[in-house]
Amino acid sequence: MRENDHPVGMSGLTVSRRTVFAALGVGIGIGAVGLPTAASAATSGWSNPTLGTLTSGYQTPSRPGHLGWDVANSQGTPVYAVAAGTVRDIRTGSYPGDTTSGPLPGRTGNSVHIDHADSYFSYYGHLHRVLVSDGQRVSCGQLIGLMGTTGNSTGPHLHFEIHRPRLTSVDPRTFLANRGISLGSTAPVGTTGWPNVSQDTTSWTARVIQYLLRGRGVSTVVDGYFGPGTASSVRTFQSSKGLYVDGVVGPITWTALILPLQQGNSGDLVRGLQTALNARGASVVVDGAFGAQTTTAVRNFQSSRGLVVDGLVGPVTWSTLI
Ligand SMILES: [Zn+2]
Repeated sequence: MRENDHPVGMSGLTVSRRTVFAALGVGIGIGAVGLPTAASAATSGWSNPTLGTLTSGYQTPSRPGHLGWDVANSQGTPVYAVAAGTVRDIRTGSYPGDTTSGPLPGRTGNSVHIDHADSYFSYYGHLHRVLVSDGQRVSCGQLIGLMGTTGNSTGPHLHFEIHRPRLTSVDPRTFLANRGISLGSTAPVGTTGWPNVSQDTTSWTARVIQYLLRGRGVSTVVDGYFGPGTASSVRTFQSSKGLYVDGVVGPITWTALILPLQQGNSGDLVRGLQTALNARGASVVVDGAFGAQTTTAVRNFQSSRGLVVDGLVGPVTWSTLI
């Protein structure tokens, strides 16, 4: 899982990248020097940008022109600002396999730059979706986008760079390690929302996924073990919904699996809900019938988490439960 954003053996990469950025600067009214710096970034700390597996390193022998680290995970995995700053040079409208857009033309897909204090810059490439806008101020650990595989990429991952000053890259893994952060594994400051659940997981979340799959018409065994059979069922579901097919239940697959539920509903989706409620401290019978007992459990859960107490299970209640 890697992108092909830096052709192997391309010795002139740094020069070409500088040229690209300089051209961008002229074209959209900002230059590579003289940018206003974010005032308070240095005092608000640093965050891991995302969670996942490291798949390609900084300036490796086989890819000397690779100026960042690649962190792979499911499409839709949240990506966070590594420090406070101001968003710059957003690129959107790219797609998987796109070879015509991005700061390196045709390579890094949808992307975000953040301008931090003290001449630091961070860069996030191949995003599925960008959730911030140019000029927006962001805080350390703030959600800025979702991991994807836009641009010249072979699977969902974040291409992540740190520059200081701008256009002068440093090894971002070492940079974060010096600040107590293990790239890809230290919990990001802003971690919220849906978990990634992948094969070889035995947990109540695996059981909920199995119920939800059945509730959405995909046959699977409900045993609480996310094995090859469950992964295959997840792929079937992802394919049917036009999602990236990786067999991992991340934020996008979760939100496609759930449906709003309320009293009177029945079936495996309700069994999934009841399983989650019990994992969060309730004691309801997992019978697939959303009756008064399940409504009371939902209301109690909503109250305990400071949510609107209405007994209805929408996306917010679902994501808080999971
Ligand atoms: Zn990369």
